[in-house]
Order: sequence, then structure tokens, then C-alpha cells
Amino acid sequence: MLYGIKGQLTLKSQQKQLVAQSVGNTRFVWNQFLAMWNERYQNNASLPPLTEYDLSNLLPTLKREYPFLKESDSTSLQQVSKELTQSFKDFFQNRSHFKHPKFKSKQRARQSYTSKNINNSIRLEGNYLRLPKLGWVQFRSGQPFTGKIKRATVTFTSAGTYECSLLVDDESQVATTKTHQMVGIDMGVSDLMVLSTGEKIKTIRFHQQLTTKRLYWERRVARRALKAKQKGIALSEAKNYQRAKQQRARIYRKEKNQRQDRLHKLTTELVQRFDVIVLEDLQTSNLIKNHSLARNIAAQSWREIRRMLEYKCARYDKELVIVNPYKTSQICSACGFDDGKHALDIREWDCPNCHAHHDRDVNAAKNILSIGLGQALVKQPKPLSVS
Ligand SMILES: [Zn+2]
Repeated sequence: MLYGIKGQLTLKSQQKQLVAQSVGNTRFVWNQFLAMWNERYQNNASLPPLTEYDLSNLLPTLKREYPFLKESDSTSLQQVSKELTQSFKDFFQNRSHFKHPKFKSKQRARQSYTSKNINNSIRLEGNYLRLPKLGWVQFRSGQPFTGKIKRATVTFTSAGTYECSLLVDDESQVATTKTHQMVGIDMGVSDLMVLSTGEKIKTIRFHQQLTTKRLYWERRVARRALKAKQKGIALSEAKNYQRAKQQRARIYRKEKNQRQDRLHKLTTELVQRFDVIVLEDLQTSNLIKNHSLARNIAAQSWREIRRMLEYKCARYDKELVIVNPYKTSQICSACGFDDGKHALDIREWDCPNCHAHHDRDVNAAKNILSIGLGQALVKQPKPLSVS
């Protein structure tokens, strides 16, 4: 799936000049190509329309004639071939809706150009974005993403700022192949997930990592609200209060983004590794009935994991099975013997029947898997009996 990410660029004066040059160059190439196209049509209207390839092949000649074009990233000029041929295609197909492509004027045209990512020529590291010709520039977007950057469009806005929008191909869209592997997952609080394979995925407490900052802004919001009240200023008018509220919102958003980003990576990995994924139904789980903060946050993550797995499984033709977690933590996954409830502090135990040694959560995950497989089998059409 392709999607866009937008952010602000902080440029040095030399980089600003380069952007202006690149914008001008794309406009110049557009106008050159368009003039050529029109002339060709006037000379012989029966010639077939030019292709993107035809136009791109003219670029080296143009560059020799107009050396300033070499200051542009070459993919941004190739992009012009693509856009112009597309404009003509649209026009030929639907003349009532699309106008004949026009020359671009310095004043009216959009101040932007688009570069293609070739061999990592465009990449993001932390808050820095690498762009062809410009090098590393500060990029602020506030939207973390996973995936590959396909294109970057740099725009000089009417507000006098520089923006960049990235076209991203979501990594989770990578075609998954059948692996014939199945997994049961036990969800928890200190371990976010325990897999029937024995793997344990720890909970990362993003909430705690940002605690100091969050408390700082929480207190400021409260104090500033009180001050505004004492002065008789409406909260909507109190600038200091509004600013603190914005800061607090930024911390919460950061926290949420970090958690979301991690859950995306985890669920994508699960869908890639397993063909059948079995989860316990949290509606019927007693985990949800406890109201501590850690559990509430965990419960949010569990819901999010389920939601992500639902659509990712559907998209990749994998199967998600939801089972009732009844007795999954007390039955022996090796022999099925039920020796009654184990207290929560018992993390490991031996089955009195078959003497298998169990880790509590891994055993639960294994039981969840076997219940899920039973359910998945019931749904399959019955094989024809041969008589
Ligand atoms: Zn047993």
C-alpha cells in the first residue's frame, strides 16, 4: 500500500538556492518538451504521441545545450517526462474533463519538484532526510512510518516554508508466502506476547520512558489553568495554558506513535512467519477485568494487536483464529491432564500425569494453538469419503 508522509524541511541558504534552481529546471524542461510536442503535432498530426521513454531520451541533449540542468537531480527531470505524457494521455482520453497541457509560468506554477529514490538516494535517519543534490536536511513530520520511500516531492510553499512529501510503500505490503507454520499466542502484561514456539516478547513501557516529561507538562497545564482562572481569563483565550496543552499533547502523541510503530513491526513479522495465528478472545478473558494502569495499557495493545492481525491476515490470505481462553493456563499441553487452577505466582510446573515440565505462559500459548487448530479444522470442508 502506498501512502504519503508530509514534513517541514529546514534548509540552509545554499540549499534553498538549489531548490529554486531545481524547481526552475523542471519548469524549463516541461516547457521545452511541450513546445517540441506541439511543433511535432503541427508538422504532422498523424504521428503517434511521444512516450515517456522518447522524452527521457532527449534529456542528455538538453543538458548539453543548457548546462544549468545538470544542477538538478536527473530523476526530477525524468519525472517531467512522466508527468507530461500522463497529462497528454488524460487529455486524449477525456477531453471534456482534462485540458490540453499548458506552458508553466514562473509565477503561477506550483513551486515543487519530485525526485525518485534510486539505490537509497533518498533515506530517513532520525530527524534527517537525505535528498539528491541537497544532502542531509532536517525533516520534521511527527509521523513515524515503516516502509520504503519511493519518491520525494520538495515544495516551496506560499507561506515561505519548505515542505517535503514522501511517497512510502508500506513494508507490511511485501508479498508473504505460505510458510505452513502455525502459532498460538498468550497475551500478558510483563510479556506482551508469549508464543507457542517458546518465544517471549517483552512489553516496552513507552509510558514510563516519557514519564518525567509528561508529568512536567501535566503540572504546567494544571498550574496555568489555575492562573488563568485567578486572572479571570477564559481558558480558550489563555495563551500560556494553550501552549502547555499543546506540549502535553505532543508527548502523548509521541508515546502513542512509538507503541503503534512497535505493534506494526511485531504483527507484520507474525503474519510473515505464520499461516495460522491463534489468539485468545480477550472479551472472555479475566485479564481484562483488572483495572491497574499497566493492565489498561496492555489491554489497549492487545486490542490493537488483534485489529492489526485481522486486517493483515485478511490482506495476505493468512488465517486468524480467536478462541475462548477457558482453562488454557491449567491444562497440560502435552497430555491434556487438568490438575486445576495454578496460582498466578506459579510460573513453572510439572504435570502430575505425564511429568512434562511447563512454563506457564508457553503452555497456555500451546493450548491456545491446539484449540485454534481444532476450530480451524471444523470450518474446513470435509474431505470426500472413499467407499
Ligand atoms: Zn501432562
